[in-house]
Amino acid sequence: MNEMHLKFLSRSENEIFARNVVAAFALPLNPTLDELSDVKTAVSEAVTNCIVHGYRACEGWITLVCRTDGDTLHIEISDDGRGIEDVEQALMPFYTTLPDEERSGMGFTIMQTFMTTFSVVSEAGRGTTVRMSKQFGARATEDAR
Ligand code: ATP
Ligand code: MG
Repeated sequence: MNEMHLKFLSRSENEIFARNVVAAFALPLNPTLDELSDVKTAVSEAVTNCIVHGYRACEGWITLVCRTDGDTLHIEISDDGRGIEDVEQALMPFYTTLPDEERSGMGFTIMQTFMTTFSVVSEAGRGTTVRMSKQFGARATEDAR
């Protein structure tokens, strides 16, 4: 069991910062390169959403919490931005509120696909929290059965 908390500004360069921090934190769990790449992609998508949707042109704080529990990495990424009116709709593949900015509406779908568990809690005007986890070695265990 290990845990870390981090707070950083919603600047675009912090997308790369955040995903590398999470990757470094996850290393003691001996993830495969594919597993690590899945986690980094999911973190990038979540942090990008905080920056482009949560805060738009404003600057605000993004909070990152990571916890390891056995072979599982738990990640929580939150902003105190605009929030989401209809989470169910936002989770639909290709749904985006920024189609003019070359957004494809696939961020949440990617997080769901690449991680073992995924959930979003959001309140309009207050902010958004994405919780996701990745169990490392899950495929290897299944194959061995
Ligand atoms: P893509 O991720 O493919 O570039 P996208 O960001 O629009 O496009 P998703 O990441 O799936 O697609 O998000 C879907 C929608 O959910 C967004 O268009 C936005 O309306 C809303 N959303 C997602 N994250 C946040 C957030 N942190 N704050 C406010 N709204 C959000
Ligand atoms: Mg997105």
